[in-house]
Amino acid sequence: MELLAKFSNYRFLPAGYFSYDAADEVINYDPIRLKKTNGKISLLHEISHCELGHFHYRYDMELLMMEVAAWNHTKKLADQHGVHVNEAYIKDCIESYDEWVNRRGSCPTCDNFCLEYKESRYNCFVCDTRWQVSPEPQKRIQRRIIA
Ligand SMILES: [Zn+2]
Ligand SMILES: [Zn+2]
Repeated sequence: MELLAKFSNYRFLPAGYFSYDAADEVINYDPIRLKKTNGKISLLHEISHCELGHFHYRYDMELLMMEVAAWNHTKKLADQHGVHVNEAYIKDCIESYDEWVNRRGSCPTCDNFCLEYKESRYNCFVCDTRWQVSPEPQKRIQRRIIA
């Protein structure tokens, strides 16, 4: 628990997962996994989101940028607090977001990669297909073609 004590300015809530709840300004953590290095890294990652002021994002690409920034900050915090950084684990986490952005942004008709034209909505600039994705990042990726 000594890691939590070093961040006494934050509110921590034991839960079965790690997440930063910006609305309630609470960092949820998994006390069991916190005993292991990856759990400590996960905690520092959520603290990083909080320290970097990641309260809200609108676009998938923004979320990806936030993740990359948060992981860079996590490495700094880990250094400061003597937590071993598993580079492969961090790379995996970033890659999974990268893949998520790619899958949501790939046109269901022609597979061309596009950026959102508004929140959760895409319009392919090659074939003009429009589709929409779930605004919830944790949801399974479903691209629904819209007229
Ligand atoms: Zn994150
Ligand atoms: Zn297309």
